[in-house]
Amino acid sequence: MAASHIFPRHCHAQVPVATAGDGCFLIDRNGKRYFDGSGGAAVSCLGHSNARVTDAIKAQLDQLAFAHTGFFTSDPAEALADLLIAHAPGDLDRVYLVSGGSEATEAAIKLARQYHVERGEPGRRHLIARRQSYHGNTLGALAAGGNAWRREQFAPLLVDMHHIAPCYEYAERAEDETLEAYGQRTANELEETIQRLGPDSVMAFIAEPVVGATLGAVPAAPGYFKRIREICDRHGILLILDEVMCGMGRTGHLFACDADGVAPDILCIAKGLGAGYQPIGAMLASRAIYDTIARGSGFFQHGHTYVGHPVAAAAGLAVVRELLENDLVDRVQRMGQTTMAEGLNRHFGQHAHVGDIRGRGFFWGIELVADRETKTPFDPALGVAGKLKRAAMDEGLICYPMAGTRDGKHGDHVLLAPPFIATEDELEAAFGALSRALERVL
Ligand code: PLP
Repeated sequence: MAASHIFPRHCHAQVPVATAGDGCFLIDRNGKRYFDGSGGAAVSCLGHSNARVTDAIKAQLDQLAFAHTGFFTSDPAEALADLLIAHAPGDLDRVYLVSGGSEATEAAIKLARQYHVERGEPGRRHLIARRQSYHGNTLGALAAGGNAWRREQFAPLLVDMHHIAPCYEYAERAEDETLEAYGQRTANELEETIQRLGPDSVMAFIAEPVVGATLGAVPAAPGYFKRIREICDRHGILLILDEVMCGMGRTGHLFACDADGVAPDILCIAKGLGAGYQPIGAMLASRAIYDTIARGSGFFQHGHTYVGHPVAAAAGLAVVRELLENDLVDRVQRMGQTTMAEGLNRHFGQHAHVGDIRGRGFFWGIELVADRETKTPFDPALGVAGKLKRAAMDEGLICYPMAGTRDGKHGDHVLLAPPFIATEDELEAAFGALSRALERVL
């Protein structure tokens, strides 16, 4: 084979050439079929050959490929914004369409800052986030994220942000503590950090309602986000929820925060919004934020060439219609509690190296440990996550294993985020493939 000129993610990994998609399956050049058990990284919620979405893209291309938002709006962008807002929580009222998750969180951070400046509080400059979180790879989003490994070599380029503990019951709840008490204790760290920094200097708190790649589908304890909301409100601090991975029906709710009974001031979505058919993300902002900017400078000082791209918006619109009109979110909720929860527990609940199984809807994490009793993670030098990814691919399964943190506080995990159209038989076969892959690695 001729040398490739692609700059790949991993310079020395040999990866197959994907040539086709068929329902929940990806097919490589040799005809091998892979069940897409993680949608790449929670992207492909409709599988790989949804005709409604591809038809919408083709029709939009025939009609209008591009019109810069400095000059025009477009029908698909307007319709998508209307549809999202019709279903969005709280008083989210405006939609800023971007090309992906990092752009959405980056825009959210800048909007939070501009909102406070325009309200006459320019001293509000601190963003508080959580350790073991991921908000994207651009410099602002990376600075907000708490994933030590991703930040390490870029640290000199990252502005100072402040990190509190994630709500990660498996690893951090005390034995004599109820889940609710643990949630309150963890949320109260936000109050302590605000007091330490000075309440008038904090602009926003950002968190994933269900932590995705960094922890492996970890929902917060009951009451945690309600307490977070109270603390933010008390101090005039904006709550930004990053649903780039866990949003758009993935947890069995169109917006993951619906399950926690809270509404943010700014909400970020991506991945499942385009479902892999087009690169698209969105930042949803509250009416109060929009009105402040509209009455003030009248101009959000941000923007990329491709914001509000008509073809991406047409794809996003078709995806959301498909989710809503085919009751796919309800299906995810129902099958999440049965096929996913029961199947995972049946296959992996007794495994000597499975420490925890957690998740919601079609968003599940399996935490792998060297010792179940002591919850000791594997030595990162063993590279368990990487070996598991390769073994699963050999078995015809795409899953998303992630290495643990080097501080030993959090072990390797596997993320499962299958398409919402997956059948019981397909999911059962995927669990079997993952079992065989685990047997080969551990
Ligand atoms: N936020 C979260 C929670 C994510 O999981 C990701 C990507 O994995 C991002 C932001 C960044 O999104 P993107 O890779 O589309 O830039």
